[in-house]
Parts: sequence; structure tokens; C-alpha cells
Amino acid sequence: MTRIGLVACLALQVTAALARELIPVQILAPTVEHFRDIVSNDTYDFGCRAIAHPTEDGRFKVHALLTRDQIAYLNNEYRSVHDITIDEQSLAKRQRAASAPIGTGDRFQSGTVAPVGLGTRASGTTIPSIMNVNEISSAVNALVKTYGVTSFNLPYKTFNGATQFAAYVGAGSDTSKYHLYLSAAVHARERGGPDNLIYWISDLLAANKSGSGLTYGRKSYTNAQVKSVLSAGIVFFPLVNPDGVAYDQSTGSLWRKNRNTASGRSGSSVGVDINRNFDFLWNFKKYFAPSTSPASTSPSSETFYGTAPASEPETKNHVSIYDKFPKIRWFMDIHSAAGDILYSWGDDDNQATNAAMNFRNSTYDGKRGVVNDGTYREYIPSADATAIKRVADATVAAMKGVGSRSYVAMQAVGLYATSGATDDYAFSRYWAKPGVNKVYGYTMEFGYSTNFYPTLTEFNQNILDTNAGFMDWALTAISVGLE
Ligand SMILES: [Zn+2]
Repeated sequence: MTRIGLVACLALQVTAALARELIPVQILAPTVEHFRDIVSNDTYDFGCRAIAHPTEDGRFKVHALLTRDQIAYLNNEYRSVHDITIDEQSLAKRQRAASAPIGTGDRFQSGTVAPVGLGTRASGTTIPSIMNVNEISSAVNALVKTYGVTSFNLPYKTFNGATQFAAYVGAGSDTSKYHLYLSAAVHARERGGPDNLIYWISDLLAANKSGSGLTYGRKSYTNAQVKSVLSAGIVFFPLVNPDGVAYDQSTGSLWRKNRNTASGRSGSSVGVDINRNFDFLWNFKKYFAPSTSPASTSPSSETFYGTAPASEPETKNHVSIYDKFPKIRWFMDIHSAAGDILYSWGDDDNQATNAAMNFRNSTYDGKRGVVNDGTYREYIPSADATAIKRVADATVAAMKGVGSRSYVAMQAVGLYATSGATDDYAFSRYWAKPGVNKVYGYTMEFGYSTNFYPTLTEFNQNILDTNAGFMDWALTAISVGLE
């Protein structure tokens, strides 16, 4: 290539890179119905899930990461006709603020120095960086060494050859005494998820040992509450997607999926969305209405569903935990960034009147997923609906109670349906696999909308907010019932 040719080629690449740059926007509309068409486009990136939140002026907003071209197209197509506006001002400002650094080295010194959470430290104390991949395992090893937490390797290695691990604590060696299960980092770019979980476990263990309580902002918990939460038996899987997190941390590319190259070898075609890969209505083309897009068959989509139900090692490992701990009753998957708690179901609106209208009934194949229609709604017994909402509401109340910001509890289906997600899979097991325990599944989306890389201040606030949320999630789950 000539020098001029090379310069022209580089200029083209720079232009192409700019065109692909993702800009956080909020799309505002007078009603939720206005978004129906937009959210069915599976080439747009709505973060974890497309959720419409009410605004203070009585409208609704959906957050998305869009390219300049996509913003121009939406403005052109929808602004005048549908009264939709796209606002990139408020979020652009936050985007310019420096994001929290990723830790360098190993603050836990090869598993010998235990992490200390914010709930056991003086108000105003901050953690200076987000854990790198090595620090996440080092932190868990330090909890094993310091407090007698039990960690174990999971059976399947990731595409890049990582050995995955989980851990349990609080209810002794009998794995049938463990009723709470939390996981984090299914989506690689949602920075701080593992930290929220590991620092909370560290707080519980430190407070248990010293006989003290915990304080997160304006929320406080007694030592008796700490002991109660631990004795419910906690299983935690803090790094579900190590390949994706390692890639995101080294590139800053807002990477979401894992790094499996079986369906695509370069760019956005690499990777499967683990949160569309679980065995719950996975084959969405068969189960859902043609007008819906609960996942994507396109490898370049952020919601690419993989090659089979649970085709991914991360998914298989996640599922294996239910087999090892057969009495798990409550499950929480930690995501960002939205500021909400989502509860079942996520595939359609709920109904408690027709038990035959459910995800296993082939009569309804091709009809699911259209929100607000009468054709199909997912069955949930009313006692279950009451229980899951009660725990979600208590979780949100605790997160608000810390005193920094608002959160909302809502049904996961929100604006549009999803298939193959961790929370629906958890709740579906009871009906899909005779003899297994009923598991109530939640997704917590901490942080501010589409702000996957928090500032250091936000990172620390997220730890306080989520940790108070985990406390009341667990305490309320205990009062509803563990068996
Ligand atoms: Zn997510």
C-alpha cells in the first residue's frame, strides 16, 4: 500500500470507528406504547433490558446506547410522527466524567488479605478501584482463608480456558441448608457487580466475627440480622463471565457478551449473550410472536442467544449450582445500569387465573411476548406473585433508604419480553423439571441508566446501595420463607 493509500485507509478506519461510537441517550415519549416499535429492533443496544421508567414530568424514558447514524434515523422516523424525543445531554455530561479505575496488582495479596466492605468501615470511607479479574478470585480465596468460606471449582471451563469458581458460607457443610444464591458479571461491561457482592459477603463475615452490625448510609442492620442472613446459607458466583470481563477491562469497549468465537470471529460477532442463553423459551422463534424480539439469532447482536439452550460453559456452570444446592429458594442476578429490581416473569405479562396458559403449553407457541395484549400472559400463582413482589419492594425500599437516589421495583417484562434470562430460568425450573425446588428469581440493575462505567463516587455509592438492598432482600426472603 502507498503512503497516501495508507493515510486514506487510516482516515477511513477512524471515521468508521467514530460512526460506531456508542452514545448514551434517553428516548422520551408520552406513553409506553410509543416505544413498542423501537424496542423490537434487535440492533439497538438497550443495556441489560429495554425498560421504560416514568419521568417526573409524566412521560416515559427508555435508555439506549446508539450510534450517530441510529440517532439520526430515529429522529427522522419518530420525532414528528410519534412525539418521541432523544436526549443525549444529561448523560453525555456523565460520560465525560472519569470512570473509576480498574485495580492494578492484587490488593488481596494472593488471597492472604481479606476484603473489608463499606458497611463495617467509617462513613465516608471509599474503595479506590474496581477489582480486576485476578483480584476477584484472590478476594474469594482470602475469604476462604480468613473466615472459612468454602469455594469450589465449577465443572466447565470458559471458551478462553478460565476455570470458574463459586463459594458458600453461613450454613455449614450440608449443601441442602443453603437457600440464597447471588451471581454477578453475567454482562461483562457492568462494572462493579462482583465488587458489590464480594464486599457485602465480607461485611457479613466481619460483622459476624466482631459481634457488630452494618451501616450503609442511613440504613443500619444489627448483628442479629447479620447472623440471620448468614444462617440462611449464601451461595455466591461473583464472576459469571470472566472472559468478557477481562476483555472489557483491557479494552474499555463496553463489552457485554462472552468471548466465544464459534459463531463469529471478529468485532461484534464474537460472543454469546449469557443472559439469553438459559433454557427458558430459548428457541424464541418458535415460542414467541413473530413481532417480538426477546433475543437475537444474529451473532453480531448484543442479545445473540447462542447455538443451543445452555450452549455456553458459563450458563452450564450457573445451572450446576442449583444441582449442588438443591434447596436454593431465592436467586439474585446482579446487573447494571438502570436503578431497578426486576421480578418474574420476563416473557410476558403475569396472570394468576389460567394455569394452563404457561410457558410449557405448545398451544401458545408463536403467541408469547406481546405485552398488554390478551392473547398470552404467563401464569404465576397469586401467592408467588405476592411473595416475590413483597421481597422486591423491600429491596428497593432499602436501596432508597441509604439516602442517595431512587430505585423502582417492576415486573421484568417491562417494555418487551426476554427469553433465556437467568431470573426467568430460576423461576421456571419448578415447573419445567419435576421434583426440583421452587426458586424466586430477581435481577438487580444497580447504577444509573446505561452508565456501565461508574465514576469512583458512583462505584462506592453503588456498593452502599446494593449492599443495603441485599440485606433487606435476604431478611425479607427469610421472613417469607426459606423452605
Ligand atoms: Zn446486564
